[in-house]
Amino acid sequence: MITVDLRSDTVTKPTPGMLEAMWSAKVGDDVFGEDETVNALEQKAAEMFGMEAAIYCPSGTMTNQIAIKCFTQPLDELIADQTAHVYRYEGGGIAFNSGVSTRLLNGYRGLITAEMIASEINDENIHYPRTSLVVLENTVNKGGGSCYTLDHIKPIAELCEQRDLKLHLDGARIFNALAHTGDKAVDYGTYFDGISVCLSKGLGAPVGSVLLADKATIKYARRIRKVLGGGMRQAGFLAAAGIYALDHHVERLKIDHAHASILGEELAQCAWVTNVIPVETNIVLFDTLEPAAAVLAKLAEKGIKASSTDTHRIRFVTHLDVHAEGVEYVVEVVKSL
Ligand SMILES: *Cc1c(COP(=O)(O)O)cnc(C)c1O
Repeated sequence: MITVDLRSDTVTKPTPGMLEAMWSAKVGDDVFGEDETVNALEQKAAEMFGMEAAIYCPSGTMTNQIAIKCFTQPLDELIADQTAHVYRYEGGGIAFNSGVSTRLLNGYRGLITAEMIASEINDENIHYPRTSLVVLENTVNKGGGSCYTLDHIKPIAELCEQRDLKLHLDGARIFNALAHTGDKAVDYGTYFDGISVCLSKGLGAPVGSVLLADKATIKYARRIRKVLGGGMRQAGFLAAAGIYALDHHVERLKIDHAHASILGEELAQCAWVTNVIPVETNIVLFDTLEPAAAVLAKLAEKGIKASSTDTHRIRFVTHLDVHAEGVEYVVEVVKSL
């Protein structure tokens, strides 16, 4: 029996080429700014997105939380969709790290619009927290990999400019969004004050995320990273995996999307599946007649690992380590349930 792990795109292991790049990395003490591989990764990522500077961090949670800290003051409020990772899955860090409250919107699959944001910006009044930041997520994890296009983002960026709000992108899966929409990474820098990019999701690095912003923000971000305990020393061994991922694993995301699309189509034919959320990228969300836990147990017996996001909802995520044979096998199994 083969095993297929569809729980998350974080479960990938480094490829032989990536390991080779890690072994041979030139390193130094990054807290002194002397790790040339970390410096190269930061410069490469910033340039790709048309931003001035970048900082390498252990996780996407840290890059998001640092961005929120950089773009707000205590007593401020940020606006995000109610599904937002920064709100739901970062342990309450917005309040803990930044002393900021969160205004939640009800977007469509986690996607929010300028109109929705405009009506939730607080007026100048001492009763109200000061609205200072908007956070978008692209793709939206809990939305089932749903995507913003730049056309959708432009009016939001204009609103933020007019109302003096910062705009941050949780781009944990931004390359999946770019693969789907055809937008260019370099154009993102025009619209966002901060961009967080995960290297350890679909890109397949074992560890790491980068936060991109202007030079002054990144200078301050280095203080925040240090106080959070994220100042790493010879981190170039890990950053080398990030550079390798940006060079070799961006183009192939299309394969993950094609695999997710096949799974979505097959699931839609299954009598035990009541609904499949339209597949855009590498995440398939679907609802089940039986409780999700019962279905997950049957899948596990067949060597297929997945997760549930609700009592009757299951999530499949495709990635680098899910090959065509694995997808064929999952199709066979779901048809037989
Ligand atoms: C995974 C993820 C992150 C960051 O997660 P870490 O595990 O801390 O790297 C941030 N935002 C979204 C939408 C994610 O899916």
